Amino acid sequence: MTSLRYQLGDTGPAIAEIRSKLTQLGFLDDTAPGPHTFDEDVDQAVRQFQQERGLTATGVVDDTTYRVLDEARWRLGDRLLSYVVGNPQAGDDVIALQRRLSELGFDVGRVDGVFGPRTGDALREFQRNVGLPADGTCGPSTFKSLGRLAPIVTGGRPESLRAVEALRQAGKRLPGKVVVIDPGHGGSDRGHRAHGLDEASVVEDLAARIEGRLTATGVQTYLTRGPGSEASPTESERATFANDSGANLLISLHVDSHPNADASGVATYFYGSREPGTASAIGEQFAGLVQREIVARTDLVDCRAHPKTWDLLRHTKMAAVRVELGYITNDGDAARLADPDFRDVVAEAIVVAIQRVYLPSGEDAATGALRFHDLATG
Ligand SMILES: [Zn+2]
Repeated sequence: MTSLRYQLGDTGPAIAEIRSKLTQLGFLDDTAPGPHTFDEDVDQAVRQFQQERGLTATGVVDDTTYRVLDEARWRLGDRLLSYVVGNPQAGDDVIALQRRLSELGFDVGRVDGVFGPRTGDALREFQRNVGLPADGTCGPSTFKSLGRLAPIVTGGRPESLRAVEALRQAGKRLPGKVVVIDPGHGGSDRGHRAHGLDEASVVEDLAARIEGRLTATGVQTYLTRGPGSEASPTESERATFANDSGANLLISLHVDSHPNADASGVATYFYGSREPGTASAIGEQFAGLVQREIVARTDLVDCRAHPKTWDLLRHTKMAAVRVELGYITNDGDAARLADPDFRDVVAEAIVVAIQRVYLPSGEDAATGALRFHDLATG
């Protein structure tokens, strides 16, 4: 697979296509088509689009941005929608369908814009309910029926409420839970490097520390890549691995870098964009807890939790969080990351955050108060 990379200064037919997509979506005003150039206006439009869609605003049209740009053109009713095994349909029309079904009380799982088997089941269930042939295809008559009914679930995010309920039913004890730990880099992929450190070593070591603690509490843990493994799975492959393992939670470990050595601090990311109803409530809660526990136990700057539509977050069915633990390019953060005691404290913070996901709020002890020891025995 070749990787796309279009940016400021590029020219050619692909740029003409990108310009026309951005214009269709209202991000660019290409009334008088000029030369097919990726100019400042296109750069601005791409950044704006990325921002709105929960992508990192780089101004570069890479594979992900191109895919999201392409999927954004579909409106519900434009085409027939159904579950296609091996090649699922994706687009804004699927998001609209999922949101609509969800509002009407049908369980589509996460509103992720991908027409998977669960969306198909929910659609058939809807069709049976309204007396249409239950063929799992959203065509003109189904589209019309979808528009006629008033929502029975209001107040936003019914999918999220169901996810919260499922979590509550899973019980508050850790034993029996399945957690996937994703060291973001490893093998020949060393990630960011600076100050004599590399990202892969830090996240592999941190993953081992978290794995040890979780295993001690009876949690089944899986790593997306083993220590010393040369494999470099893509984000989608890692998501599939986590889905297949039946995980309850996924935590992806990274360290950030920045050209400006002053940039520092810890941030967490969960699935979602600025589109209402897309954010994973459980993911948001989990990210908030990880962020809170790390900030409470270390002196890292608090760069907060943010929604993103990165592939790993988008394709995972469980609550998934990516943590960017400090900036390897910052003197202070790098010194912290190099210290095994610091990594121990972070591992503890993450394990406590995992436990807190399952604690009913009344039993939620003050941030930073819960210790690994309490979890192992309690
Ligand atoms: Zn990374």
